[in-house]
Amino acid sequence: MRSSVTRLLVGGFLAPESVAPGERLVVNAWVVRHPEATVLVDTGIGEHVPPEDVTSMRFLRTPITDALASVDLQPADVDLVINCHLHVDHAGGNVHFRGTPIVVQPAELAAARGPDYTVAEDVDLDGGRYEEREGEHEPLPGIRVLSTPGHSPGHQSVAVDTDAGTLVLAGQCFRDASGFARALTAMRLAHQGYEDPPNYPAWMERIVELNPYRVAFGHDLAVWQPDA
Ligand SMILES: [Zn+2]
Repeated sequence: MRSSVTRLLVGGFLAPESVAPGERLVVNAWVVRHPEATVLVDTGIGEHVPPEDVTSMRFLRTPITDALASVDLQPADVDLVINCHLHVDHAGGNVHFRGTPIVVQPAELAAARGPDYTVAEDVDLDGGRYEEREGEHEPLPGIRVLSTPGHSPGHQSVAVDTDAGTLVLAGQCFRDASGFARALTAMRLAHQGYEDPPNYPAWMERIVELNPYRVAFGHDLAVWQPDA
């Protein structure tokens, strides 16, 4: 079954010095309108980001409730939440979806319950209806969750069948579309027998196998598209 997908811009912040000095990142979430359900992929930045981070990283935040209202939806309209991972810039609005199933990888939930991982009260670790599903699975026909660990232990991406083809919502498995393109080049070099190719994550093979017409990212307004 095919869905339509709308991107929601839910905020931005300055990347930490250790990641990309001076670079301002956006924060995206997506509404996936499936024939049988309305799915929200990521829920934006939480309210309780520590004040020192708000100052140093200059957070801009659009509450997920406002972002949904901009497309005539409210939290009660959402039937399923999928978080790419549980950091507070991707799952910080989970508290608004109490009672709605939230699909996560078991490794992610375990990490989020450990120390220094996220902001538990925004991510609603205790009150949220977390449903742990390991590895690749299809919560709805035509919506496939892919295991893409690396940025976090249980990071996951979402492949959505649309009229235009398969759209992969890749969360933060790369910071931007260029990172994905570089990994794809590394994979191609490896396949061609190039000696000592750059590293790339093993799950790249699966994403490429799905033949996406577009790959979108949680912190980039640019998308990846295949060669013409
Ligand atoms: Zn992030």
